[in-house]
Amino acid sequence: MALSGIQIYKLLPQTNCKECGFPTCLAFAMKLAAKQVELSACPYVSEESKAQLAESAAPPIRLVTLKSDGYEVKAGNEVVLFRHEKTFYNKPGLFVKIDDLQSPEEIKDAIAKADAYQVNYVGIGLGVDGFAVEAASGEAGKFGAAVQAVRSASKRPLILVGSDAAVLEAGLKVLTGETVMIYAADANNWEAMTHLAKQHKAVLAVSAPDVESMAALTEKVKEKGVEDLALAVDGGNLSKMLALSTQIRRLALKKNFRPLGYPTIVFPKNPEAAAQAIVKYAGFIVLDHFAPELVYPLLVLRQNIYTDPQKPIQVQPGVYEINNPQPNSPVLVTTNFSITYFSVANEVEGSGLPAWLTVCDAEGMSVLTAWAAGKFDAERIAKAIKTFSVADKVERKRVVLPGHVAVLSGELEEELPGWEIRVGPREAVDLPKFMKEAL
Ligand code: SF4
Repeated sequence: MALSGIQIYKLLPQTNCKECGFPTCLAFAMKLAAKQVELSACPYVSEESKAQLAESAAPPIRLVTLKSDGYEVKAGNEVVLFRHEKTFYNKPGLFVKIDDLQSPEEIKDAIAKADAYQVNYVGIGLGVDGFAVEAASGEAGKFGAAVQAVRSASKRPLILVGSDAAVLEAGLKVLTGETVMIYAADANNWEAMTHLAKQHKAVLAVSAPDVESMAALTEKVKEKGVEDLALAVDGGNLSKMLALSTQIRRLALKKNFRPLGYPTIVFPKNPEAAAQAIVKYAGFIVLDHFAPELVYPLLVLRQNIYTDPQKPIQVQPGVYEINNPQPNSPVLVTTNFSITYFSVANEVEGSGLPAWLTVCDAEGMSVLTAWAAGKFDAERIAKAIKTFSVADKVERKRVVLPGHVAVLSGELEEELPGWEIRVGPREAVDLPKFMKEAL
């Protein structure tokens, strides 16, 4: 049974020392009861109390990790229903499925292509996380060869898909030392699958037609000694998938219902279902094929959903050289919000025109937001120009302000005597034309 805030409070030191970041032990206890903090934030809890608090301190959704040579995919450990309440922590692993009906050579080619796929999104490298191998043939020999072929083309973590434990074992034998997921145990095969998962220290996906039977099945599997589980959510119908995923997350977080306190796994039947699974609340997503036009938007969506809403993605403030700038090249100015930086940098780079791009520390905000918040003003811009010794790089001292902050030009002239202050366009897309015609 989960403890209430008052019950937890009684087990805390009650000294109100504030070291946990909360003004009182009671405030900390309430947060702990709501799963919004970790017990380790209080350094003064006695060992006896720790033992009693263990259940309340345990994450409501168990952290499950798949591992292979140098790769890890983690899912679970989430503490909120909505990302704006805090943040989502572990991005759902994006897997691509292949089956053992193809020849080993075909499998290797397909896997190598997906494995090599990498995109750069606002300075972050994104790609798929692993592969799922389906035992469609029902033959252990074929399945083992298919897993071997996948493993020879990629080192990323694997999910083995099938209903026959004896067939799946042929794949597990190829993957010694790895933490693999077995998909899936159901009412008919759960004993054999649980035995297999225990033997190979694998994560076991559990499949059932409704939450009640799923909860009953996870309890039975857990009793047999397998605790790293994933809950299979059908990815065929958007509304049913949304309802089930939300019900599982809500019961785990709000009711602390341990039998459903595991990450989910979804095999979406279409791109819309895959997108929904990212937003609501999959731990592992298995796509039925690889295509860049399918994977790219999903990777970007996932990146955005799993970015801490209170910490925008930022680039390092500094001077960025674009297209080999010379001493007579202009100095452009922008903020360190990643999307703003890459919008400007990509436009200028694409134009082939050289420039010194000075990025000011605006606490990760875009130009207008930072200006409105007082984080991108003449003083900060001048400070960046001076701190990064921009004057030493140029002969002609010209600074181009973003058009949205044209109002700063007068103040900047005062802050930077001897510099020519120019007002550029409002939108990054208009920069090449401005640079060609007005500079
Ligand atoms: S650190 Fe521990 S003892 Fe101090 S206020 Fe927080 S909960 Fe209380």
